[in-house]
Amino acid sequence: MSQHPPGGRHSTSRASARRHGRGGVPAGGHELVDWIGRYLEEAERYPVLSRVKPGEVREALPPEAPASGEPWSAIRDDVERLIVPGLTHWNHPGFFAYFAISASGPGVLAEFLSAAFNAQGMLWRTSPAVTELEEVALGWLRRLLGLPDAFEGVIYDTASISTLHALAAARQAVPEHAHSSVDKAVMTLGLGQSGLRRIDADERFRLRPAALAAAIDEDRGNGVTPLAVVATVGTTAVTSVDPVPDIADICARERLWLHVDAAYAGVAAMVPGHEQTLAGCDRADSLVVNPHKWLFTPFDLSALFCRRMDRIEEAFALTPDYLQSREPGAVRNLMDTGVQLGRRFRALKLWMVLRYFGADGIRRRIAEHMRLARCFADWVDASDRFERLAPAPFSVVCFRANPAAPAGDLDDLNARLLDAVNATGEVFLSHTRLDGRFALRLAEHLDRLLPA
Ligand SMILES: *Cc1c(COP(=O)(O)O)cnc(C)c1O
Repeated sequence: MSQHPPGGRHSTSRASARRHGRGGVPAGGHELVDWIGRYLEEAERYPVLSRVKPGEVREALPPEAPASGEPWSAIRDDVERLIVPGLTHWNHPGFFAYFAISASGPGVLAEFLSAAFNAQGMLWRTSPAVTELEEVALGWLRRLLGLPDAFEGVIYDTASISTLHALAAARQAVPEHAHSSVDKAVMTLGLGQSGLRRIDADERFRLRPAALAAAIDEDRGNGVTPLAVVATVGTTAVTSVDPVPDIADICARERLWLHVDAAYAGVAAMVPGHEQTLAGCDRADSLVVNPHKWLFTPFDLSALFCRRMDRIEEAFALTPDYLQSREPGAVRNLMDTGVQLGRRFRALKLWMVLRYFGADGIRRRIAEHMRLARCFADWVDASDRFERLAPAPFSVVCFRANPAAPAGDLDDLNARLLDAVNATGEVFLSHTRLDGRFALRLAEHLDRLLPA
C-alpha cells in the first residue's frame, strides 16, 4: 500500500476531514502500532489472569465523559495504566483455558484497516468488496475444509448466532406448515427449553445414534415434529466427535435438517491425516466453524456454511423501501442473510490471515498444536500422580490429579490445585465436570505464531 490514499487527493481529503471534525489519525498512531507489536511479543510480562478486584476498573475512571477532548497521549497512558491491568491476557503463553484463541499479527492489522474503512456491508452497493470478499474468503475456507461446493457461506459474529440462523433455516424447510410450537422452539429464546432434546452420549462422550433414532420415534409418537439435529465435531468440554456419518443416515431417512457444530475442531480437517474430522459433514445441511477459535483470526468471526442459503433468506429477508436496490445481475445483500442489518467487514481479516500464512503454514501450525497436546497427554499418562479423563483428539487435554494417597476428596483436591495454578499469574487453566468428576482442562496453543 502506498503511503497516501491513491489519486493524489490526500491533502484535499485531509483538509475536508478536519473541516468535518473527524480528526485524522492522532499523532502517536504509529507509536500505538509499535506498542501493539511489543504487547503481542511480550504478553508474558503481565499476569495471565487479571488481578483486579470487582469494581476496581470502574472506580478508577470518572463517572462522566470529559467536557472537552483530551490529548491522545493521556488516553493512551490510561489504557496502559488502568485498562491493561484489568485484562485477562488471551495472548499470554500460559493461557491454556477454554479454547486458547489464536489471533495473529496480520489479523490484528486487518481489524485496524477494517475500522478505518468503516464499511457497512448491509447491501452489495454499500460496499461491494465487503460482500464479494466474504464469498471469496469463505470459498477458500470451504475448500480447505474439504466441503462440497454446494455449501454457501456467510459470516456472523459467533457460532451461537451461526447456529441460530441454521436452525431458523431448518424451521423454514419443514415441509408441512409447522405447528406454532415449532416456531417458538426455534425462536431465539424458545430454543433452549421445551424445544430442545438432549441425546445420550456413549462412554467417550459421543452422541449415540440409537438414542437419537429412539428419541425421534418417541417424539413422532407423541405428535411432536422434530425438525433438526445438531451434531458436534469437537464438543466444548472434551472435544469429542459425534458419529456424523451415522447421524446423517438418520437425518436423511427422517428428513431432518442436520446442522454440524464444528466451531472449534472443524479446522483440524485441513491437516493431512485428519481429514476424517469432518467425515459425513458433506451430507450436512449446515455447518459452523469459527476462524476466531483456531484459525489465527482475532475475535470475532464465525463462518456458517449452508446448502440452502435461500432458506435463511426466506426466514430473514425483509426489505423496507429505502433499502430496495436493483443491481444488474444477481448480487447478495448481506442484510438478507440474518437478523442484523449492518455488517462489519470481517471477511478482510480472514482473507488476510489465509493469504499471510498460506494453507501449508496454517496446516503446520494446527498440526503443531495437536502435537503439543499429544505430548502433554503423554506426560499425564506416564505420571502416577495424574490421570487423563477423556481422549484428546485435538488440542485439548482433560485430566486430574489422582495421587496414590490423596488427602481427602479428589474433586476438592483438583479444585484447590486449579486455584493454586491460576493464582501464579503464569498459567490459566479452565475446568469441566466429566461423569460427575472435576476435571482440569488444558487447551494447547502457540504463544507466538511460528514465522510465516
Ligand atoms: C465455542 C463454541 C461455541 C460457541 O462459540 P461462540 O462463537 O462464542 O458463539 C459453540 N459450539 C462449540 C462446539 C464451541 O466450541
